Amino acid sequence: FRDRKLIAHIIPFENRRQILVTHDVTESERIDMMRRDFIANASHELRTPLTVINGFLEIASMQADLDNQTRNMHLKLMTEQGERMQRLVEDMLTLTRLESVDYPPRPERINMLGLLEQILQEAHALSAGKHTITLECTGPDIRGSNDEIRSALTNLVTNAIRYTPENGHIKISWIDTEQGPKFAVQDDGIGISTEHISRLTERFYRVDKSRSRETQGTGLGLAIVKHVLLRHKANLLIESTPDVGSKFCVQFPGTIVSA
Ligand code: ADP
Repeated sequence: FRDRKLIAHIIPFENRRQILVTHDVTESERIDMMRRDFIANASHELRTPLTVINGFLEIASMQADLDNQTRNMHLKLMTEQGERMQRLVEDMLTLTRLESVDYPPRPERINMLGLLEQILQEAHALSAGKHTITLECTGPDIRGSNDEIRSALTNLVTNAIRYTPENGHIKISWIDTEQGPKFAVQDDGIGISTEHISRLTERFYRVDKSRSRETQGTGLGLAIVKHVLLRHKANLLIESTPDVGSKFCVQFPGTIVSA
């Protein structure tokens, strides 16, 4: 019991005897702490854009004679902050839904080639010609939730683009292995040092906060990936070297293949 937290109650029993009842509250305290951390982080993340928007609204209400150029710049900055709040709230709702036992994934046949070709198109649009992106797709179709798998794989590809400087290379692959089908996205971007790797799927964990914000990150992407993969019994493997690049692999179980 050395690492456990126990709460004991003494209950009177017959003939002046007493019963000692103990409850192990270690797990519920850990969940409580995680919940408090999440609320604190989420509030902090929402407060920053709100402060910016409120600041510009105050300027607008005090200075009615703002020139058009300044006014348009303020409107643009407020719109960006509003969009940031929207992304955050959407990611928080997605995470809540993924964690809920009331919404188990609805398995359907996923056309992996079709899905990956769409993800590739979106990747080209996001990269705007600044990266070379390739796709190799020889793996089978699988059974799972199309929306959830799409969102997990899109998150991994989007990160590869966002954390790879211009002229970088991004290789997406979907192949079959002895253990089951495997997705991988490899980049030659900024990389991640070893001490961060095991913490990347924690909510709001970022190696470099300012870079994540600049690239429109919410800090929840890999937490969403982790939960989708848990629901599909798949594993995430991360290999990375700073200044060389990263490889994010998703190993699906052999049983997930669609007949
Ligand atoms: P964010 O919205 O900040 O990108 P994520 O949960 O998607 O949040 O990722 C968490 C952190 O992991 C990022 O802030 C970044 O530091 C790091 N990261 C994720 N993918 C990569 C990558 N391909 N290359 C380098 N760093 C990455």
